[in-house]
Amino acid sequence: MFATLQPTAGDPLLALMTAYKADSRSDKIDLGVGVYKDEEGHTSILASVKKAEAYLLETQNTKTYIGPSGDPAFGKAIEQLLFPAAYAAGQKLLRGGRVATSQTPGGTGALRVGADFIHRALPQAKIWVSNPTWANHYNIFESAGLEVGDYRYYDATSQSLDFAGMIASLQTVPAGDVVLLHACCHNPTGLDLNAKQWHQVGALLQERGLMPFIDSAYLGFAEGLEEDAKGINILAEYCPDMLIASSCSKNFGLYNERIGALTVIAASERDAQAAFSQINYCIRGNYSMPPHHGGAIVSTIINSSELRQQWQQELTAMRSRILSMRQQFTQRLAESGVQQDFSFIAEQRGMFSFSGLTPDQVKRLQVEDAIYIVGSGRINVAGMTSSNLDRLCQAIVRVLD
Ligand code: PLP
Repeated sequence: MFATLQPTAGDPLLALMTAYKADSRSDKIDLGVGVYKDEEGHTSILASVKKAEAYLLETQNTKTYIGPSGDPAFGKAIEQLLFPAAYAAGQKLLRGGRVATSQTPGGTGALRVGADFIHRALPQAKIWVSNPTWANHYNIFESAGLEVGDYRYYDATSQSLDFAGMIASLQTVPAGDVVLLHACCHNPTGLDLNAKQWHQVGALLQERGLMPFIDSAYLGFAEGLEEDAKGINILAEYCPDMLIASSCSKNFGLYNERIGALTVIAASERDAQAAFSQINYCIRGNYSMPPHHGGAIVSTIINSSELRQQWQQELTAMRSRILSMRQQFTQRLAESGVQQDFSFIAEQRGMFSFSGLTPDQVKRLQVEDAIYIVGSGRINVAGMTSSNLDRLCQAIVRVLD
């Protein structure tokens, strides 16, 4: 039956992960895979997560199904993180039940369910992603049957945001289409919009009748929890309808629990409930219901003032460490006298940056120095530690020569 079937090209990032694991050099450095690492190079379980799990182990008394939309307490916890000001003010979210959230397996699950929903509810709509974007966006959206286009975002020459290009591209997108935006910590460039730019994009989307689909995979990793949700909140002022895919993989360190959420905002409570029921229909026909454990951890943390405070401290520590690595990396390279200016790395946010290293230089770093970087030159800054930074910078200086 499968005699004519050819294997797929395979995901280059997964291949890089396999090569890294197989490398026996003890001083190898992984700047490829997109996970946070601490100062010792470990992806540890957060203490707040451990405490929430101990509490759940003690108190849970059933493993019964939780329904396609998951645990409502988890949905409310996510909405609290997305719309902190509305929550603090005790507002019924966005004035009148216009928001509904379904629990999903990871941020990827949320993106896929969102794509299935778009395909079902807006069959003519095409989705537009930034150029570049997280490579899996194409796979996810095309697998759901959506046509994918791209808009300008990155100026490779100046290694900065091409905001004028982005606006010019979006001005040509036909009404009724969907625009994918990264809430913060843009993957792979580390370049985010400022508040003024979010307002400009919001006004443009509103004027042209485009729906935002926001991918929020790094909330709390750029400037802070509230600050990182500002783009989402600004867009909600302009756009009556939107989708938000949240991931709890990075900010709660729950990678293999596969926990995320798809939030829909609609023009009225009626519309939100109609969209929510369609989303849950898509879930039912896909994996029926999400796994429970990750969502229970997140809602336990958010609903306990003690655990929430501890989690926020742990999140702040992760963010500060990444920022400090960005600054130290930039400084060391500048001190080493390299011609190339790497100061942009300190300006960017989140785990990723485009280093500007060529595929040849990336290959040499892997072969000669056991330093693993994605072929595009994207580096995961969270893979740097005080103890590997010197060796890393020396190797980079050598391949730049
Ligand atoms: N969106 C972006 C931009 C990502 O970088 C990632 C993970 O790397 C995801 C979504 C998906 O995250 P998850 O592991 O929760 O599926």
